[in-house]
Amino acid sequence: MSDLNKLTIAEARDALRKGETTSVALTEACLAAIDRADALGAFVHKTPDLALDRAKAADARIAAGDAPDMCGIPVGIKDLFCTEGVPSQAASKILEGFLPQYESTVSSQLKDAGAVMLGKLNMDEFAMGSSNETSVYGNAVNPWKAGNGEDLLTPGGSSGGSASAVAADLCLAATGTDTGGSIRQPAAFTGTVGLKPTYGRCSRWGIVAFASSLDQAGPMTKTVRDAAIMGRAMMGHDPKDSTSADLAVPDFEAMLTGDIRGKVIGIPKEYRMDGMPEEIETLWHQGAEMLRDAGAEIRDISLPHTKYALPAYYVIAPAEASSNLARYDGVRFGHRAKLGHGDGITEMYEKTRAEGFGAEVQRRVMIGTYVLSAGFYDAYYNRARKVRALIKKDFDDVFADGVDSILTPATPSAAFELGKEVSDPVEMYLNDVFTVTVNLAGLPGVAVPTGLDTQGLPLGLQLIGRPWEEGDLLNTAYALENAAQFVAKPAKWW
Ligand code: GLN
Repeated sequence: MSDLNKLTIAEARDALRKGETTSVALTEACLAAIDRADALGAFVHKTPDLALDRAKAADARIAAGDAPDMCGIPVGIKDLFCTEGVPSQAASKILEGFLPQYESTVSSQLKDAGAVMLGKLNMDEFAMGSSNETSVYGNAVNPWKAGNGEDLLTPGGSSGGSASAVAADLCLAATGTDTGGSIRQPAAFTGTVGLKPTYGRCSRWGIVAFASSLDQAGPMTKTVRDAAIMGRAMMGHDPKDSTSADLAVPDFEAMLTGDIRGKVIGIPKEYRMDGMPEEIETLWHQGAEMLRDAGAEIRDISLPHTKYALPAYYVIAPAEASSNLARYDGVRFGHRAKLGHGDGITEMYEKTRAEGFGAEVQRRVMIGTYVLSAGFYDAYYNRARKVRALIKKDFDDVFADGVDSILTPATPSAAFELGKEVSDPVEMYLNDVFTVTVNLAGLPGVAVPTGLDTQGLPLGLQLIGRPWEEGDLLNTAYALENAAQFVAKPAKWW
C-alpha cells in the first residue's frame, strides 16, 4: 500500500486487521511526512522513537487478535494534553521544560487502545486564540492557499497544529480541545471534521485548564466516521474529573446509517449575521437543502439570546482563566525568571509571569481579575452567568419543541491571512460568533467540510446536537458529508 499517511482511521484499521499493512509502516509514513512538513509548523515536539516502540507493540497486539479500533493508528496530540515524560507546554513559555509525571486521561485512553502518538501539536498559548498566532513556538500554517496566492493562511485556532497536521496528512487524526470553538473553527478552515462532545463526555484530567466550565477535548479527523471511532475512544467516565459524566459511551460508528428521515433540523435566524460573506449564506442554504433531500424536516427556529453569547463568553472564559492560571508562579512548574539582588517572592511572581505569559494571555488574566473584582463582580461576571443560563434555555426550548439538531455556519469567513487579525483582539474574537454558544450551553457540536469558496478554500457547516446524543449528531453529520461529497485536498507546496 502506498501513501499510508493519507488513509483514514477506518481504512487503516481495516487494512491492519486484514494484515495488508502494519502499524510500523503507517507510523514510518507519517514520520516521514512530518519531517517534510516543518514549513507548516504543526508538530512542535516530535516523538519518533516512542512512536515506533508503540507501533511495534500495536502490531504485536493486532497479531494476537486484540485490536481495538484505534490500535496501531498514528495520531498527533495537542500540546495542551499532559503526556508522560514528553514536553507539554500549552504553547507557553511559562511551561518551558515542564515534563509531566503523568498522562492525561484522554491521551492515556488512546494509548491504552493502542494508538501511536507521533508528537505534540502546535496551538495558541493556553488555547487562547483563533489563529494559532499566540503560540510561543510561532504560528502553524494552513496547508490550503487561496487561488494561486502566495499568502500564508491561518489554520485557525486554538487547535491550529492539529488541523494543519490532519489536513496535510501528517497523521491520521489528532486530538483537539474546544473552549469556544477551537476544534470546530480550525476544522472548518482546513476542510477537516472536528467534534466537540457534550461537556462532561471527555475527562478534563491532565489537560492544561483554560476555562474549566467550557473546556472539552474532542477528535479532529478526516471523516465523520473517524470522528465516531476516535471520539468513542476518547470519551468515558473518569472519577478524577468531578464534571465527567457517568454515562455509557455508545458505539457511534454503528449508528452511522445516514438515514435521517423524519429528523427535524433547526435553522436559527439569529445566526444570519450582517456582513457575512454571501458564499457562507449560500453554503448554509445548500446544506439545509442537502439534509432536506435526505429526508429531514427543515424548520426555522429562534435562539433569541445569541447576540449576547460572545460578550458573555469573553467575561466567563477570562474569569476562569485568571483563576486557573494563578498556579503558574515560577515555583511549581516550568519557567522561573532570573531574579535580581534583593528580589523577594513578589518580584519572582511578577517577573516570572511577565516573562512567561504572552500578550493575549496577560490580557485575559487582566480582564478576568477585573470582572471578578469585588466592585465589578455583579456587573460583569454574575450578569454573564445569567446570560449563559438564558442561552442554554434557548437551546432547551427548541429541543423540547422537537428539534433534533441545529444547522449553522461554522465560521463567519474562510481561513484568513496570517498576521491579519492578530493586532485587533475584538476582530479575532468575532471568529467565535457561531461556536461559543455551544460551549456556553455545554452541547455537542461538529464542523463538517461542505464546500469551497471562490478562492478554493474550504468552508464548513456546524451541526449542534442534544446533550449526550453525539451518535445522532454524528449520523446527521454523516448524511451531510455524504451529500456534500467534499473530496478536495490542498495542493502540496510545503
Ligand atoms: N477563540 C476562542 C478563545 O480565544 C476559543 C478558544 C478555544 O476554544 N480554546 O477563547
